[in-house]
Amino acid sequence: MIIDHLRLRRFATVVLEHLGTETAKAAETADHLVEANLKGHDSHGVGMIPNYVGSALRGGLQVNAEAQVVKDQGAVLLIDGGFGFGQVVGRQATDLGIEKARALGIACVGSRNNHHLGRIGSYAEHCVAAGMVSIHFVNVVGHPPFVSMWGGRDKRLQTNPFCCGVPTESEPLILDMATSAIALGKVRVASMKGEPVPEGSLFDHLGRPTQDPNAISEGGSLGPFGQHKGSGLALMCELLGGGLAGEWTMQDIDQQKEVTVNHMLMLILDPNVFGGAEGFAREVNGMQAYARSAAPAEGFERVQLPGDPERTSRVSRLAEGIPIDAQSWQAICQAAEKAGMSASEIIALTQA
Ligand code: NAD
Repeated sequence: MIIDHLRLRRFATVVLEHLGTETAKAAETADHLVEANLKGHDSHGVGMIPNYVGSALRGGLQVNAEAQVVKDQGAVLLIDGGFGFGQVVGRQATDLGIEKARALGIACVGSRNNHHLGRIGSYAEHCVAAGMVSIHFVNVVGHPPFVSMWGGRDKRLQTNPFCCGVPTESEPLILDMATSAIALGKVRVASMKGEPVPEGSLFDHLGRPTQDPNAISEGGSLGPFGQHKGSGLALMCELLGGGLAGEWTMQDIDQQKEVTVNHMLMLILDPNVFGGAEGFAREVNGMQAYARSAAPAEGFERVQLPGDPERTSRVSRLAEGIPIDAQSWQAICQAAEKAGMSASEIIALTQA
């Protein structure tokens, strides 16, 4: 099906309200999810609703939790999300960090115990809109690992995202990426379509490279991006996000309770306190143009910079609607019913 973003936002808000979520929090979470769909990241869009509904019904996701400041010391803030919607408590932590960075030039924010934060780029976009540079190291815990370290046969991590946002005179640069070779959602799609996954993404139960998308369910693993380099960055996300900012890392198997939790370390920097925002802007804008001016390699139309593919997707999906595959839509509707919506209410909100 193809659905208009406004209709999808309304529907997602109502599903979350049925879980007992206050309207403002439901709407903020729904906006974040639909924005991920608009930007082409369906793995972090409304397809997460079944996860969220299951988590709330099991008592893991605390739908109305607010971020609480645990420590406020100089440039450091430690904030506990209380397992609330990451989209709400993570945003509250980001707002507090921006405020501190405005006052001190830098804020180092530990944002711990967030239920799934969704698309990490949204927090960087929020910082960039306030004129700040931001860097995010995030770990993912609450489920058994399915990503292997480079050279390892056993699974040790999840898709630990890394993100960095830089303001420019035009569109911001937002590097926002999982540290696994590809997203788990992409493996699921390849498996459903019976297609191979890109080379170097998956390993079988003996640690041998494979393009068979079913390898994970047969004891294999998702590999890190960029071989040993991605593996190292994923580990740093685990340590800085989970160990420094957060309360636990993947090694603590007693904490794997089928509830997706993100711990995030954020550095928020005001360009004014370094060499001056003007000089920084000159270098950023000049470098951006220089990078874009490179002649495209064979098979490419142009050089794209971080954030470009998301903007392209957003323009086309705003105009043409958001495609949702039948299997995902069925799972979303089943979750909506579990949350307490009737079939007729779902139809009225999505098809009227
Ligand atoms: P991706 O591979 O699609 O993109 C990664 C980055 O590369 C982006 O900044 C994008 O703008 C850029 N990019 C993509 N194609 C490009 C090209 N052709 N040329 C130049 N730049 C290009 O993203 P991903 O790794 O699949 O991650 C998807 C989303 O999943 C992200 O928003 C991430 O935050 C999210 N995520 C969240 C969690 C979580 O636990 N909350 C975990 C993993 C990933």
